[in-house]
Amino acid sequence: MEHEKNKIDSGLSLRATFIAMFIITISIAAVLLGLTYRTLRSFHALSDATETYIVLEDAAEDLLSASDYLTEEAQCFAVLGDIKHLDNYINESEVICRRERSVATIENILPDSPALAEIKNAMAESVSLMDREYYAMRLVLSALGISDIPECMKDVSLTAEDEALSPEAKFQLSARMLHDEEYYDHKSLIRDHLSQCVEELKSVTFATRDKMQNRMHVDLVWLIIMVALETVFVLIMLWLMTTLGINPIIRAVEHIKQDQSLPIVGANEFRYLANTYNVMYSAYKRSIENLSFKASHDELTGAYNRAGYDLIKSSFDLSTTAILLFDADKFKSINDNFGHEVGDKVLQKIAKVLKANFRSDDYVCRIGGDEFVVMMVHVDESVRHMIENKVTQINRELEKTEDGTPAISLSAGVSLCHRNNDSQEMFHEADIALYHVKDNGRRGCCFYEPGMRQKKLKP
Ligand code: GH3
Ligand code: MG
Repeated sequence: MEHEKNKIDSGLSLRATFIAMFIITISIAAVLLGLTYRTLRSFHALSDATETYIVLEDAAEDLLSASDYLTEEAQCFAVLGDIKHLDNYINESEVICRRERSVATIENILPDSPALAEIKNAMAESVSLMDREYYAMRLVLSALGISDIPECMKDVSLTAEDEALSPEAKFQLSARMLHDEEYYDHKSLIRDHLSQCVEELKSVTFATRDKMQNRMHVDLVWLIIMVALETVFVLIMLWLMTTLGINPIIRAVEHIKQDQSLPIVGANEFRYLANTYNVMYSAYKRSIENLSFKASHDELTGAYNRAGYDLIKSSFDLSTTAILLFDADKFKSINDNFGHEVGDKVLQKIAKVLKANFRSDDYVCRIGGDEFVVMMVHVDESVRHMIENKVTQINRELEKTEDGTPAISLSAGVSLCHRNNDSQEMFHEADIALYHVKDNGRRGCCFYEPGMRQKKLKP
């Protein structure tokens, strides 16, 4: 029992295994969820960085294009004198204000960045160039004799020397101021600052992009590892379920079908179940064996009883069997003279002597009060003499009184190797032969012969 208990303790517990599996599955799922969320965030950060770069680069380009637009309109006004160009200029610089908006965009997204410093420098250059453009355009207004000076130029006053110039000279001077080397030096400074600004934007964007790409790479590698782990884990789970649960159930069903005890295998719970079943199964088997022994054996002598005899006779080939029907001689007188208990002892002795004088393969049955049948199996006609000797020997032993029991003798009728294989007929023949012995002085044996006189029924 202790050994069995150890076996039970040694198995993996299904409950503990499932709890462990549950915790591991939840943990792997949580890590997978976390990694997926981080990868998603990295992806959004990457696309945000790209979109932000596009917005910032557009802002830088806007400033350049606004600056170029102002240059263009100022130059057109200086050459053509068409007031609409002046209006366009003022509209761009004071109403649309693309340059200011560009600076504000970058300031909003990247405050305190080198890119902001560069675009602010470009803006400062553009503003400083406006003084020159205002002066040039003021010359044109003067050449055209327009006295209604726009508000933004009211502070600009021409030198006395320039004021004195002819209208043509004023046009020429204005055009020169907007096309000379100094003017274009300023323009190229604006471009330099803006291209520097774009470079800075690129480096900020690329740094973010590289960081996010690296993070995504690491997270994706971890995702692959976790998916592989989950796959391996699922396979282990399947193996454990098969080994601990399914296989033991299948094996148990096979054993139950074959009326065997269960193997102690699988999970701790199945081992416990199998062990409990086995204990009950053994008790059940023992009680069945006990019952069937009691049902087929005589309690007094331990020999087979009538039911046992009926079972045995139906399972043998009677053509190779001898039925010896014994009856104690004058047994009643033993009961009468010595008492029933002594009679019982004599019956026990008869059974013992019969068992001792036949092979262990042969069957000794008590089929009635003082009636015994011995079934000798696997014999032929040649055993006649041997049977006679055995009956003689049995009677010799039964007549001994050293053990305190009174002497008794047996009469035996024998039916040998019945060809029809009919047990009832064979028994009947043995009975006729027995009657012969009883009729001829008892103590001895007689083999049935066809034509023997039928036994008279006892009154
Ligand atoms: P016979 O030689 O003609 O056989 O004479 P018998 O006295 O032996 O007559 P019979 O075989 O008919 O009697 C058997 C007796 O066995 C009858 C009964 O009282 C007795 N008997 C039956 N069963 C038991 C038993 O279990 N114990 C005892 N002590 N006696 C029994
Ligand atoms: Mg008798």
